[in-house]
Amino acid sequence: MTTKELYTKGARIWVEHPVKVWEGATVTSDYRSGVLIVQLDDNKEIRQIKIPDEGRMPPLRNPSLLIGQNDLTSLSYLHEPAVLHNLKVRFCDRNAIYTYCGIVLVAINPYYDLPIYGDETIMAYRGQSMGDLDPHIFAVSEEAYTKLERERRDQSIIVSGESGAGKTVSAKYAMRYFAAVGGNASETQVERKVLASSPIMEAIGNAKTTRNDNSSRFGKFIEIHFDNQYRISGASMRTYLLEKSRVVYQSAGERNYHIFYQLCAGAATEKMPELQLDHQDTFHYLNQGGSPEIDGVDDYKTFRETKNALSTLGVTESEQRSMFTVLAAILHLGNVELTSDPDEMQLDNQDGAYIRPNDKHLSIVCSLLGVSKPELSRWLTHRRIASAHEVIVSRMDVQRAVFARDALAKRMYGKLFAWLVQAVNRALDTGNAKKHFIGVLDIYGFETFEINSFEQFCINYANEKLQQQFNSHVFKLEQDEYIKEEISWKMIDFYDNQPCIDLIEDRLGVLALLDEECRVPQGSDMGFVSKLHDKCSNYPHFLKPRFGSAAFIIKHFADIVEYQCGGFLEKNRDTVLEEQLECIKSATNCRLIHSMFAESPSDHSATLPPPSRRRTTPSVPLASLTQPPRRTSTQKQTVGAQFRQSLSALMATLSATTPHYVRCIKPNDTKQAFQFDAARAVNQLRACGVLETIRISAAGFPSRWLYQDFFYRYRLLCRFKEIDRGDIKKTCSSILQRYLKEPDKYQFGTTKIFFRAGQVAYLEKVRADLQ
Ligand code: ADP
Ligand code: MG
Repeated sequence: MTTKELYTKGARIWVEHPVKVWEGATVTSDYRSGVLIVQLDDNKEIRQIKIPDEGRMPPLRNPSLLIGQNDLTSLSYLHEPAVLHNLKVRFCDRNAIYTYCGIVLVAINPYYDLPIYGDETIMAYRGQSMGDLDPHIFAVSEEAYTKLERERRDQSIIVSGESGAGKTVSAKYAMRYFAAVGGNASETQVERKVLASSPIMEAIGNAKTTRNDNSSRFGKFIEIHFDNQYRISGASMRTYLLEKSRVVYQSAGERNYHIFYQLCAGAATEKMPELQLDHQDTFHYLNQGGSPEIDGVDDYKTFRETKNALSTLGVTESEQRSMFTVLAAILHLGNVELTSDPDEMQLDNQDGAYIRPNDKHLSIVCSLLGVSKPELSRWLTHRRIASAHEVIVSRMDVQRAVFARDALAKRMYGKLFAWLVQAVNRALDTGNAKKHFIGVLDIYGFETFEINSFEQFCINYANEKLQQQFNSHVFKLEQDEYIKEEISWKMIDFYDNQPCIDLIEDRLGVLALLDEECRVPQGSDMGFVSKLHDKCSNYPHFLKPRFGSAAFIIKHFADIVEYQCGGFLEKNRDTVLEEQLECIKSATNCRLIHSMFAESPSDHSATLPPPSRRRTTPSVPLASLTQPPRRTSTQKQTVGAQFRQSLSALMATLSATTPHYVRCIKPNDTKQAFQFDAARAVNQLRACGVLETIRISAAGFPSRWLYQDFFYRYRLLCRFKEIDRGDIKKTCSSILQRYLKEPDKYQFGTTKIFFRAGQVAYLEKVRADLQ
């Protein structure tokens, strides 16, 4: 069909709209070159649309038959307005929060408790095929579980979306499903422990942010293990990139990790006077956001729940006490006053940092942990500088001292987090050999903020990797289907983001240049950026910003993001003063400190797989043997290098599974039930690759009909004598030959007819005209 035939009077199209993004309109007179005259559906306004290029006509609307369907790929016109409209109709008019988009489940956060998660619903989905019931997280879980059984291949459910979109809730429902259908009647009750890991991880890894009252500040991959009978036999968890900066700083309206507030609320009632905890507002590390409460949350009650969950997982009462001791020590450390007030101190060095001899909080930290007060006081204010010939101890200025103290607090929290993850893993490891697993990945989606830093860089890098894996999976599935149906078809190029990943991972790519700059003695953030500008400018995905030189730009699949270099080196190094660490490690009152710091030579043990499956350390390359030994602190792997390694381990794990994708969408920023902000949704659909999926799909043969189904719908387009019930395929063929003149627009497979985009919509129109 030519443009002229498609855009005739009465054709229904989409035109752009500043708020609704797209709005419906109807063509009022046949298209003649250059101008299209339309009437807007809403306010009946008549509008002239200039068409400078016929390759870019306004998108056509789908026939109403297709609107509101369970699967977006069944739309005949597959484009952004169609996707958006369909999701909106389902969400707003039918309260249907789940929709398939091919193999992806799109889940829109309803901000409303729907009665669709009970045990009856679980039982309704049990044993059903994905297409038979309404789209649901349980349907995806069921699909994963049956595939595990039927194909004996490990499965994974990959949940992504922006903060507050509903990832963690979805992951929890998936786990609940597995616990219900794979539950074990035996006394071990693994599934009870699997479920109990959630409140623990939320207590130590979730916080209130402006986007989500219960925002996970780390990524996690949970593997649920199954035995030969497909009963749950254990589980394990890996975590990624805990946001440690939150331990010492919170922006307005945000809080530190829940556990601190729970502990403050619990300490008084639970008789823990030795912790000397006061009201949460008295702690610098807790009060900076100025927003200590969460609607509908009672910190004391959740403290009890956290404790119960810890007990369920076998963390003993005395281990819990130790945990609380470390947490309290962190809070008191944050209240140690580092001051340069020379009047009061009557001291020589006016710029240096001092601690008052009677600082209450310093005393508490020391007595809680059992460390020497003179030592800790000394190393909170001084640092050792080693040169080739001598070691100098010099007093730090206040700013530096505060920075160092905060780094210590972050390290302690990070270590405690890692220790708890290990404790959870120990409890979930039943010792039974794992035969199969289903993994659930709950990780932040692609992020672009006003100011983007190292954290966004890492997150977006992770999302590039996940998107690549997704693309190649979708591509392969499509190809398999075409081969199975024996249709001839050359796959067109799909978007491959390897070039962008190369920019990040190459030998002279972003990560390597960052590490190099971290190693040189005078390295700086600015030095890093100028190296980037120097060495990376020939990468197609790299751009220099038009203004300023303290930033670099990466063209990601989802968006073009400008990263500000400030803090990259420090965040990548993640260093703590060695002397402070030694001091804390000398604690005599707290055995936990020793386990925490002994766990692993790396400082990011939380991101390593559980010990049983950890690979042996690679042998030391010869070159490094010839170099003089360096201090351990400088040999430590950088955060970037560590993250890269754990990502590649994750990708290897995921590639050996059959993946299932859940994309969560946050429909509005005010947490209102069933409110749909189209502009927000479109951005997220782009960021999570749903629109990209559509593009891949639309480039091939997006619509597929079984011969039977096609015949029943369109037999009235047939002359009576042409109908041959013994040969439906031939009958379909005569319909198509009459109405679709271009043979390239459809293909006959063994069981289905494959259509190019728009063909079904055209047949619908013909059918409607005949009736
Ligand atoms: P994310 O992990 O993506 O940051 P969450 O899963 O924590 O987001 O969800 C944020 C909030 O949104 C939840 O606390 C809950 O109030 C609401 N929510 C998310 N998914 C659902 C759902 N399926 N039904 C009802 N409310 C939901
Ligand atoms: Mg979350």
